[in-house]
Amino acid sequence: MSLYSRLVKHPGWIEVIVGCMYSGKTEELIRQIRRAEIAKQAHQLFKPRIDNRYSESSVASHNQNLQSAIIIDHAYEILDRVNADTEVVGIDEGQFFTNDLVEVAGQLANSGRRVLIAGLDTDWKGRPFGPIPQLMAVAEEVRKQHAICMVCGSPATRTQRLPGVGGQDILVGSDGMYEARCRSHFKPLPSEDSLLTQPPNHGKTEKPHFMDL
Ligand SMILES: [Zn+2]
Repeated sequence: MSLYSRLVKHPGWIEVIVGCMYSGKTEELIRQIRRAEIAKQAHQLFKPRIDNRYSESSVASHNQNLQSAIIIDHAYEILDRVNADTEVVGIDEGQFFTNDLVEVAGQLANSGRRVLIAGLDTDWKGRPFGPIPQLMAVAEEVRKQHAICMVCGSPATRTQRLPGVGGQDILVGSDGMYEARCRSHFKPLPSEDSLLTQPPNHGKTEKPHFMDL
């Protein structure tokens, strides 16, 4: 088979579905998996173990839509557990994986599979989150979804951690801990550690973490 005909028959593809919390990322991932089901395409859905909301073995959107999922501890497990005939690979909560997910997604797409990855594009401090920025760069398609700002009703692009929730970097969310906000109403909270150890910065924002590299 020529390279051309192989590409036409099996065009590998990476799609990234990103946005803040409550922007419908998982809902869209589930919708795409259901479309693959209707098209009779073999599919598998993976998610990291860190997320145990609602169900241990399914992917659930905030409106309780469920799709069964394989829980994994590391991105490379996907390569071990993907079936030879799987055409569509869905990955939820992609932000919780290491940058190995970029290599894994590339290998899956290079083998002719359609790879769908949903994840938060920024964290609760507004910083690019985990492997998602790199995935957005190498993906064939990026969908940025918006929630609704809980203050003004504008399209929301940021995840606001609510006061009193705590300062640890990864805190798997559920209702009452986070809120969707627009750029104007997003106010990243200082971590509790920095409150104890650093002087007030007179309103200056923390430098983005990519400056730390
Ligand atoms: Zn707003």
